[in-house]
Amino acid sequence: HSKRQGRNGFEYFDTKMNHMAVERHQIISDIRSALQKGQFELYYQPQVSALAGNVMGCEALLRWRHPERGFVSPVEFIPIAEETGQIIEIGRWVLEEACRQCREWQAQGLDEIRMSVNISAVQFSSSTDIVAVTREALAHSGLPPDCLDLEITETAMMQSDKVGVDKLNALKNLGVSISMDDFGTGYSSLASLRDLPIDQLKIDKSFVDKINHDSQGRAIIKAILALAKELSIEVVAEGVEERTQLDFLSLHRCDLIQGYYVAKPLPADGMRDFLRQHTQVESSWRP
Ligand code: C2E
Ligand code: MG
Ligand code: MG
Ligand code: MG
Repeated sequence: HSKRQGRNGFEYFDTKMNHMAVERHQIISDIRSALQKGQFELYYQPQVSALAGNVMGCEALLRWRHPERGFVSPVEFIPIAEETGQIIEIGRWVLEEACRQCREWQAQGLDEIRMSVNISAVQFSSSTDIVAVTREALAHSGLPPDCLDLEITETAMMQSDKVGVDKLNALKNLGVSISMDDFGTGYSSLASLRDLPIDQLKIDKSFVDKINHDSQGRAIIKAILALAKELSIEVVAEGVEERTQLDFLSLHRCDLIQGYYVAKPLPADGMRDFLRQHTQVESSWRP
């Protein structure tokens, strides 16, 4: 009996693996044409100051509008695009488009905000020069460099060690700022905050989730905020969904918050409207 079960289990597994391989192959070939067919789109999620609620920036988040599958999550296709190297070309498009859009909002007379763009570990460590790609995106769009922020995970920064630090410094010399994304989820130590030339860190949602339930989780956030303040590193909390989380974070002087409590990622028009409604002079964001 157990033998049969085992065999069935194996067959099921085999079929599933085969299905996954076909699926993967299909996605790779679909990604190849997605750029040409204009199926990629950027959504923008506001980042507001924790205390006053002013809109200070937004994060560009990639969306793939697939003709048959609908929206495909970046969590699904970015790892594949990283394996195949397609992320280099996609990432270049994201940078160009995010800079262009931010400059367009400025030209329309909206308040100046900072645009944060995710840079994949593969893109960061690739021989294709991320510094040149960034410089070009700034030049093509005319966006002032201090309006651009690059989000790189701590794991990606640590991977390439000395070369990584040199690249970060070269990027900073362009005048852009650097954020450490998903802080707390990687392997690096707190010493990396002191040793890496970063301007900002983003506390991962998994920590923010603990604020309401876990006193040790709250203690960790307080310690991160205190250390960041000491090192003059700005802090953004990601994935803020509740008022109580916002209250805790502003009490402990977190600089910026981002999350569904403020707004979900918005299409370009939606972000423009959000900016119009919450300009720094008129009214700040408040629920
Ligand atoms: P990330 O950079 O950490 O982005 C934050 C993710 O959290 C986004 O998911 C965002 O929609 C989601 N999020 C924000 N606030 C909340 C909240 O309050 N509740 C919940 N449940 N989720 C929230 P998204 O857009 O699906 O992106 C996932 C990941 O995909 C990103 O994580 C980033 O690592 C990657 N990604 C997205 N766009 C790009 C891109 O243009 N290039 C690269 N290399 N990676 C990207
Ligand atoms: Mg990010
Ligand atoms: Mg993040
Ligand atoms: Mg994250």
